[in-house]
Amino acid sequence: MVSPVTHNALLETMLSTLVGADVDIEPARIAFERTRGGFAARFAAAIEVQLAVVAKPEVVIDVAEHPEELAKAELAELVRPAATGFLRSYPTKGELLDELDRIKRRHERRPSWIPTVDRYGRPLPSAGAEEEPSSVSAVVASFPELGAVTVQLPTDDEDRPEVPVLTGGIGELEMVLHAVLGTVGAEGVLGELHLDAAANEALVPDETCWWPRQRTGPVPAAHDPGVASELLATCATLGGVRVVDDSPEVIARALTAAGDWRFSRRWRLDAWDPTSDAGVLVTARAAFAGWAHERGSGLILYASGGAFHAHEGLSGYPGPLHSHLLCVTRSRAGTDAIDAVHRVTLSCPGPDWCHRGGCAETVEPELDALLSPLIEAGQTSGAMTGQDEVAEAYLQLYGATGFAEYADSVLDVVGSTLSGAGWVELERSTWDGGLEDLLLRRAEHCVRVEYDPVTRRVRLGDGKPWLESSLDLLAEDGVLTGTEGAEDVDTGDEAVERWGTDLLTAAQDLLRGAIESVPHQVESTILGLHPHADGDLRGPESMTLATEQVSSLLGRVGLLGSAN
Ligand SMILES: [Zn+2]
Ligand SMILES: [Zn+2]
Ligand SMILES: [Zn+2]
Repeated sequence: MVSPVTHNALLETMLSTLVGADVDIEPARIAFERTRGGFAARFAAAIEVQLAVVAKPEVVIDVAEHPEELAKAELAELVRPAATGFLRSYPTKGELLDELDRIKRRHERRPSWIPTVDRYGRPLPSAGAEEEPSSVSAVVASFPELGAVTVQLPTDDEDRPEVPVLTGGIGELEMVLHAVLGTVGAEGVLGELHLDAAANEALVPDETCWWPRQRTGPVPAAHDPGVASELLATCATLGGVRVVDDSPEVIARALTAAGDWRFSRRWRLDAWDPTSDAGVLVTARAAFAGWAHERGSGLILYASGGAFHAHEGLSGYPGPLHSHLLCVTRSRAGTDAIDAVHRVTLSCPGPDWCHRGGCAETVEPELDALLSPLIEAGQTSGAMTGQDEVAEAYLQLYGATGFAEYADSVLDVVGSTLSGAGWVELERSTWDGGLEDLLLRRAEHCVRVEYDPVTRRVRLGDGKPWLESSLDLLAEDGVLTGTEGAEDVDTGDEAVERWGTDLLTAAQDLLRGAIESVPHQVESTILGLHPHADGDLRGPESMTLATEQVSSLLGRVGLLGSAN
């Protein structure tokens, strides 16, 4: 008989395991919100998530179809790691078969929230869990103002042919900002994220911090999205490029040319105002997008929020956090080099708190008019709860999950833009690992366009080597015959059907020396696409944004002018 005290101590332990002071209960809240059905189903889902953290993983084995045909030693080896209870040292074959039955029943009835591993201890995906796209992570240190940041690339193939990310370029910065602001998390925009109050307080300069604080010293952006936003609001440079403050016209122009906005979860900061010794509740959010217009392209970030101060009441600004806009412009050549960074501070916590000792605030009605619809859209994105069709559609358009039945690819945009200038598509292929490749020809020039959906980068280069390698294939196929200097290309119906007139003509022209090399090679990231998605144009604005970037890049390298 267990004493009441012992019994109740067990209940207390269970309670503190589920909702104790140092337990992260946000996953439970999210599970509650995204589970469909009545209160019981949602309540159970929330508890299961909390229990799964402390549950011991169970071993799952492949139960043989005719286990009685196995030798006893084989059977013992199969059964032992997954045994449901006590199994003595030298079990009989009958005992092993009984145990296998129990394992089978457990496999069938085990609740899906219990974590499982295979016989070697490797975690198995939980049943019903959203299939996470596989990814490799990379640590980026090119933006010292933010500290080292880990980013994810949506591939599991490390040796794939690629158009690599440019170190310190705007494409890399886009991944970094998404990562630190939490605008691409697997949870999407669902739920609330508690900011680290001590880490944010640690940003107050030593000279003005007269009160004892919980934490001192530099905090990296990767630690907390609030810290990331504050560092971006106050940094003097970004990637070594000087940040130009108070340039509302540049920023308004970028806002009107922005593509698909992606929002962070709502941030909540339980802060304290040392001057009046009052509690301050802050909610804030980041919105992040690519932008492109005929004069350039880049990235734009908007951080905004509100606060409740125990003495001063409600405010439309996020109290100890900055409300600000940051606009990054890429090089005029359309490559990934960062040309300029502009910033507008809408609200600053003031010289006693601000990380850089105070900012000049911009009052600009034109900006406010552009920003208020964005704030409303952010609110709606945050209301996306439950795994219903609306939430799925949202993630398909703006997230990295879900399968778009039909989405245009970046290479389609390149192809159609070039064909408008007289270029003819000769060949198209996709490499193992996803790299897409396109060969086009106009008069005496061949150009090769590669698009890497993993890094979202385009590379333009000379297509002549590719055309030359096509000759080998034509020869193997028997379409190209004759000896060097006296080759003959078969242009009969069958050859045309297999290879196309354009390629056969190009081969003939190459053989008679009528194809020149194209000297320029240029690379550029298509901004504004989700960095963990499939690289296709899924968002409603992505087509417009990609077309603008592609046209300006192709125009810059002279591929859109007349053939001569
Ligand atoms: Zn709190
Ligand atoms: Zn400027
Ligand atoms: Zn400031």
